[in-house]
Amino acid sequence: MKKKKRNWKTVEWKTAYCGTGQKCWCRTIIADTGKVVVDSGCLSRGLAQLMVKEHNMLLKLNKN
Ligand SMILES: [Zn+2]
Repeated sequence: MKKKKRNWKTVEWKTAYCGTGQKCWCRTIIADTGKVVVDSGCLSRGLAQLMVKEHNMLLKLNKN
C-alpha cells in the first residue's frame, strides 16, 4: 500500500494574522501541514478568507 503523504495542496488551509496582528489589513494563509501558503503583506483579509474558503470547498469536492 502506498503511504499517503500530506501535501500542503491537499490539506485544509486557514487564515492567520501577520506579525502586526488583528488590526492589520493583510492576512497570511497557512496550510494544515504548517506551510505558509501566502505570506504577510500579499493579501487583504477579505481575499485571504475567500481563497481559504474556495480551497477548502474544492478539497471536499475532490474527495468525493
Ligand atoms: Zn499584515
